[in-house]
Amino acid sequence: MQLAFDVSSWTANLRRMFHQDRLDSVSRCTTWLLASGLLMVSVACQSTRLAPQGTPSPPAGSLSENLESHVRFLASDALRGRDTGTQESLRAAGYLAEVLRKAGAEPAGDGGGWYQVMDLQGVDLTRPPKLTLAGEAAESLECVHGADYRLMSGIGGVQNATLVTMNDPSVLPEVHGSGPVALFIDLDDPAAGFRLARDRRDELAAIADIVLFAGRPGVGKTRPLPEHLVGRPEAPASIMLNGPALERVRSGELDRVSFELAGEEPVAALNVVGKIPGVGTPDRPDLADEVVVLTAHYDHVGVSPDKSAEDRIFNGANDDASGVAVVLELARLFGEGEAPARTLVFALVTAEEQGLLGSTYFVQNPPVPLEDIVCNVNFEMLGQPDEGAGGFGKMFLTGFERSNLGPSWAAMELPIQADPYPQLQLFFRSDNLAFVRQGIPGHSISTGGMVEHYHEVTDETDTLNWPHMEICAEVSYQALVPVVSGALDPAWLPGGNPNSE
Ligand SMILES: [Zn+2]
Repeated sequence: MQLAFDVSSWTANLRRMFHQDRLDSVSRCTTWLLASGLLMVSVACQSTRLAPQGTPSPPAGSLSENLESHVRFLASDALRGRDTGTQESLRAAGYLAEVLRKAGAEPAGDGGGWYQVMDLQGVDLTRPPKLTLAGEAAESLECVHGADYRLMSGIGGVQNATLVTMNDPSVLPEVHGSGPVALFIDLDDPAAGFRLARDRRDELAAIADIVLFAGRPGVGKTRPLPEHLVGRPEAPASIMLNGPALERVRSGELDRVSFELAGEEPVAALNVVGKIPGVGTPDRPDLADEVVVLTAHYDHVGVSPDKSAEDRIFNGANDDASGVAVVLELARLFGEGEAPARTLVFALVTAEEQGLLGSTYFVQNPPVPLEDIVCNVNFEMLGQPDEGAGGFGKMFLTGFERSNLGPSWAAMELPIQADPYPQLQLFFRSDNLAFVRQGIPGHSISTGGMVEHYHEVTDETDTLNWPHMEICAEVSYQALVPVVSGALDPAWLPGGNPNSE
């Protein structure tokens, strides 16, 4: 049987399916097709699992073997870089749900299923977006995507927005009037402008309908443009300007901005969420209501549009199939042990690469009350030893000095040290940030600061170091035991919560 839903009703159908399809009761297999620009869902009545045929069963080997099996599947060429919204990313989601189920977790997604379904839009960038810059006394400029500018994230369009320039990174400009606003970030250091546009997206979205920032000459031009981009339609586009377009905006000659995107279509994006309910302790039964959320992102950046390249697939073995594999094995280890005192939630999120969309959705639609979440520990790039972090078997914790977790783990003599790359601002660049923004202590455990293959097609399974990953998983388990048992109560240290900075 094959069902094709039309685009206008697909979300409702998708929701209905995922709400109904508990993996343990469903008797069919679902595959997803993106065809002719329309999302079609085909349901075949064959398998006992939601995961499509060809998806491996959860491995049942040693810790090291299991870690390798998870990564081998997630980073295989067959999954084509797990780009958000592709059929391959949904196939990955099916596998993750099945592994969590086998680990003994309970579904904690929408409506009692394993998935949180996000309403995102995809845009087809092979049909070039239209950026028009205009000014009172100047001829308007139709900018060419890739040459004059580059769309970095966000897919919101805008008509005739008024330019407001921001030169001081510490002061958000005041915006007057009621029309749409184009914020132009032009700092002395263009790299700082890029980081500001990326890291303070939500703050900027509150005052601007589109964000432009000054690029550096030549930077970003050599990287291939993506074939499509996924986002929330209401999120302002973030655009890097270059060359003459940049100069004419900077001079004030062009101060009106319009931006249109072609080929918007709904995209299926799923977070996979499971939990192991806590049981409290005799002294503190209330611990059962407290929640520790472990996260890793399973999406990656897909396939390069450069058709001449021999290898076009961004496998994302280290980023972040490795972190996902560690979370899956932590679920198994905690599932095998005694029931935890605190509740454990495992959230394998999507669309991190598109701007932390999956984790942001999670905290906006939490499966447990947000105030019950005592901390988030996120796992990023644990597949290769990181020389800056001490090499083999050594990890670092982003924002180490901000909460009592890092210092407590150091006191346990675990090989988890302070982030050796403060200049990279990694604390603000992964899914822990979504929790931090809600005031929840959140960190990433990583060994991915100074490793090869980052966001390259060479981030392949065979570059990973399994004994290193095994140590990372074991140490993470040991680190989490006191948190989960209630022996260690996560808390910000004085001055550590960035929301009060
Ligand atoms: Zn990552």
